[in-house]
Amino acid sequence: MAVQGRPLRQGDLALVRAAKRALERGFDRERHTVAAAVRTRSGMVYLGLNLNGIHTPCAEPVAMGAAVTRGDREMEVMVAVKRKGKRYRVLSPCGTCRQLLFDYSPNASVIVRFRNGRVARLTVGESLPAAYATFDDKRTVPRTPRQGRGDAEPARGRRHSVHG
Ligand SMILES: [Zn+2]
Repeated sequence: MAVQGRPLRQGDLALVRAAKRALERGFDRERHTVAAAVRTRSGMVYLGLNLNGIHTPCAEPVAMGAAVTRGDREMEVMVAVKRKGKRYRVLSPCGTCRQLLFDYSPNASVIVRFRNGRVARLTVGESLPAAYATFDDKRTVPRTPRQGRGDAEPARGRRHSVHG
C-alpha cells in the first residue's frame, strides 16, 4: 500500500514559511537554490541553504549541522523548499538527507511532495522503508536474532566434553 502521509499542522506550515524566507534572503541562481528548515524538540528552528562548490551539500545537512552545533540534536520535523521561477515549492528531501535525519532522530518527520503535487508529512521511517541503520542503536536496529543452539558457542561445549 502506498504511503499517504498526514496533512501539515500549523507548526509545519510555519516551518515551510521559515525555509521560504531563508531562500528569499539567500537565493543565488548559481549556488543557493534550496533552503531547509529543521525544528528540534526544543522548539528551535534551524535554517540552511544548499552549498555549491566541489562538494555540494544539500540544504538539509547544513540546517541539521546548525542544530547540532548548538547541541540541539533531537530533530522533530524537516522541510526543504526550492524556488522555481518566482514560486517557492516544498521539495522532498533526497534519500541521503532522509537517511541522515533517520540516523540522528529516527522518530522525526519529514515534509514531502508527492508526484501529484500533494504535500504531506511522513515519519522519516515511513519515507525510508527498510532504512539502512548506521549505528548499533536499539532505537533503530532490531536485536540480532539469537543463533541456534550449538551455533554460537560450539567450541565451549566440545572443550567441556574433552575435559569432562
Ligand atoms: Zn539531500
